[in-house]
Amino acid sequence: PPLLRTRNLRKSYRTGEVETHALRGVDLEIYPQEFTAIAGPSGSGKSTLLHLLGGLDHPSAGEVWLGDERIDGLSASALAALRLTHFGFVFQAYNLIPVLSALENAAFVLELQGVPKREREARALAALKVLGIADLGERRPNQLSGGQQQRVAVARALAARPKLILADEPTANLDSATGEALIAHMQRLNREEGVTFLFSTHDPRLLSHVRRTVWLQDGRVVGEEAQAA
Ligand code: ADP
Ligand code: ADP
Repeated sequence: PPLLRTRNLRKSYRTGEVETHALRGVDLEIYPQEFTAIAGPSGSGKSTLLHLLGGLDHPSAGEVWLGDERIDGLSASALAALRLTHFGFVFQAYNLIPVLSALENAAFVLELQGVPKREREARALAALKVLGIADLGERRPNQLSGGQQQRVAVARALAARPKLILADEPTANLDSATGEALIAHMQRLNREEGVTFLFSTHDPRLLSHVRRTVWLQDGRVVGEEAQAA
């Protein structure tokens, strides 16, 4: 069975008099161990879809299923609990905690999960290393560049070893060496640990490594492509 599934998913935003139909009926199934991209032009609904899949926002209509549980109508606190146990997020607003160091930020989800201190420091440091920022572990977010903050956000998701990582343009602000290293690490996690990845992206580097691409346009799925691993 799919890990995540949507049925006729719709989302509209109202700003004053203007209503924007960001998603106009999306049916999507994500199976365990997929390494899949949601691609499409800016404004096609990629971020909105990831937010709804991760339970960060409620749809205007339609359904979201996590395994055999329907999650689109759950309360905010029930969704928060689900996210902690099932999802890792890498979003464009990095959501780092300003008073914590990079290392503490990377370890933060592990603390919420109740992982012992020594183990969470080791896992957070290992994740920072993978992203090439182990030497910046003591810095706070405001002492890091945008690209460095992005890497801390990715490290935080990786350290928690969730079943599913939802990542909104994860390589967008990374230089090519860091971007390639990040993609290689995500592929390894996918192959060796069975972590499912769903990205939004229009980065050709990342698109060349995914096994499936779902194309969005104007809030609808307009095509799909499978690639050899
Ligand atoms: P993408 O990630 O593909 O760029 P988005 O999901 O961010 O697309 O946006 C889809 C559409 O919804 C766009 O027209 C965007 O302007 C609009 N939109 C997204 N978020 C909001 C919001 N919070 N309020 C109003 N409109 C929004
Ligand atoms: P990136 O491409 O990673 O976003 P930038 O061009 O923004 O990098 O920054 C280049 C360098 O300047 C980085 O290595 C970083 O150490 C430093 N830097 C950028 N912003 C800050 C800041 N607010 N505080 C301290 N150092 C910074």
